Amino acid sequence: MQIEIAQLTETDTPFAHTYTPADLTLEDERAQLLIAAHVEGRASRKRQRVHVHGTIETELEVACDRCLAPLTVPVKTEFDVSYEPPRAEAETDSAELQAEELDTTIYTGESLDLDELVREQILLTLPTRSLCREACQGLCPTCGVNLNTQTCACQQTEVDPRWAGLATLKKRDE
Ligand SMILES: [Zn+2]
Ligand SMILES: [Zn+2]
Repeated sequence: MQIEIAQLTETDTPFAHTYTPADLTLEDERAQLLIAAHVEGRASRKRQRVHVHGTIETELEVACDRCLAPLTVPVKTEFDVSYEPPRAEAETDSAELQAEELDTTIYTGESLDLDELVREQILLTLPTRSLCREACQGLCPTCGVNLNTQTCACQQTEVDPRWAGLATLKKRDE
């Protein structure tokens, strides 16, 4: 969905959109939409500066870091983003302006790509660590069986859990 910049005014204008999982690929191997994403927000414009804020609600499917089992992660997140067209070089000198730019996204063209905003905001909610459960045994670094449901002969050589990650890395290199 595109938001036409010329049509925005200084008054917050509501918008809403529902993305089915097929409509919005997250372009990130860590996660995908499990159900539709509902987006509701308001957009306004003061001269060239556009302000968009609202909420996104959906559910993601994320793989467990250790055993790769699919997990369901509910998402309910708020966003608040400002957009400005690129500034001419000479205008960006003052420190004040540069600080302001930190929470401002640059737009080019006549419209804002809501898809891109929603994708970014959803990915921001991804946890740094996803585990199916705290005690997940993960995959055997040697033979790859799921140690939550199976045992294997390799377990005889106990790997210190602190080094288990390294063993996995080593395995990948081979
Ligand atoms: Zn797991
Ligand atoms: Zn094994």
